[in-house]
Amino acid sequence: MDFELSREHEEFRHVVRDFAAAHIAPYVAGWDRDHHFPVETIQAMGDLGLFGLTAPEEYGGAGADFTSLCVAIEELGRVDQSIGITLEAGVGLGINPILTFGSQQQKERWLPDLVAGRALAGFGLTEPGAGSDAGATTTRAVLDQHTWVINGSKQFITNSGSAITSLVTVTARTGEREGGRPEISAIIVPADTPGFVAERAYDKLGWHISDTHPLTFTDARVPEDHLLGERGRGYAQFLATLDDGRVAIAALAVGLIEGCLELCRAYAGERHTFGVPIGSKQGVAFQLADLAVMAAAGRALTYRAAAMKDAGRTGPEFTQAASIAKLYTSEAAVTATRVATQIFGGYGFMEEYPVARFYRDAKILEIGEGTSEVQRMLIARGLGLPVE
Ligand SMILES: Cc1cc2nc3c(=O)[nH]c(=O)nc-3n(C[C@H](O)[C@H](O)[C@H](O)COP(=O)(O)OP(=O)(O)OC[C@H]3O[C@@H](n4cnc5c(N)ncnc54)[C@H](O)[C@@H]3O)c2cc1C
Repeated sequence: MDFELSREHEEFRHVVRDFAAAHIAPYVAGWDRDHHFPVETIQAMGDLGLFGLTAPEEYGGAGADFTSLCVAIEELGRVDQSIGITLEAGVGLGINPILTFGSQQQKERWLPDLVAGRALAGFGLTEPGAGSDAGATTTRAVLDQHTWVINGSKQFITNSGSAITSLVTVTARTGEREGGRPEISAIIVPADTPGFVAERAYDKLGWHISDTHPLTFTDARVPEDHLLGERGRGYAQFLATLDDGRVAIAALAVGLIEGCLELCRAYAGERHTFGVPIGSKQGVAFQLADLAVMAAAGRALTYRAAAMKDAGRTGPEFTQAASIAKLYTSEAAVTATRVATQIFGGYGFMEEYPVARFYRDAKILEIGEGTSEVQRMLIARGLGLPVE
């Protein structure tokens, strides 16, 4: 049994770390303050190969493993969560559904730009009345002479309205099954489709740099061949992509915990009270020890799940491991940012210190890609409990 990442993974980690130090860290506070989505930096991440990491070479990807993607997300997450989620959603929600379920024609049309980071795609599942209960979708798509006519709305959709968003894949009711259950399908909607509007970006508590919009569809028409995968499989397709997404979110959370630990370690050595560094006070030192435990435990859970995925063990055991990693790391990240802000004292409450941004950014980790309650529900079901 080997608990270490390979030398290649560690070397790759340093490539991403150097990139983040040079191209993200110096600017991120300003972007966050201005709610600025830095297209050039996102595209530079594309040039570095980050969006194409796990895509096959035929679409311009590197064909690397899922663990590599987690390493990249973790490293970006140490510096900024918004940039990390832009990559996570760009790959997990933008590229992967097309890669996994798309037709050859859809792959050839959309993937090269997405894989190169020249374009971004979103995935619209959540609606005002359908979040955790994602099957309660009310957006409708009706086939009219080989054209899907889409009406409805989506909310909180990442990467859906940026200057380089090329498409959004949305779930919609395309019919009814026996017993009145909805038939839900996934449909690719190009960004320039008349009747499709990415409304004004949200004012969010955190993730200020990440691009998040409500979407409306008013008689938005797309050709019949924009259906993604099989008709009626839209909800199942989305669920299938969620397990990977949860592990990737766990990597993002681990990056955040490590970022907190790093900043606090330095600060605990520099900041003096009562004539000594605060790190020499047990009350502070023990908090740093707790951060180190969270980072180590979070990494172990995350990379164990990533290794299962890379080994092709993607059954119920992986679903369970993904939920466990996501639940633990997201809750630990919220705790870690609270602890870090406390260690920084009054400075921790000031926006010029990264821990203030980290504190605001952490909360969403417990909500996106399945709330903590949903993870607990899934984990309990994995234990054989009939939880609703
Ligand atoms: C910044 C941001 C980005 C996002 N990006 C995307 C995206 O790209 N694509 C997308 O489709 N969605 C996206 N989402 C949506 C996100 O996945 C949902 O917000 C999340 O799944 C929760 O759904 P909800 O907000 O409707 O909350 P609700 O489902 O209304 O839940 C409200 C509360 O009830 C609890 N709850 C609900 N059901 C149960 C249950 N059965 N048992 C116990 N507790 C329960 C929840 O845990 C929560 O605490 C994003 C959200 C945000 C905030």
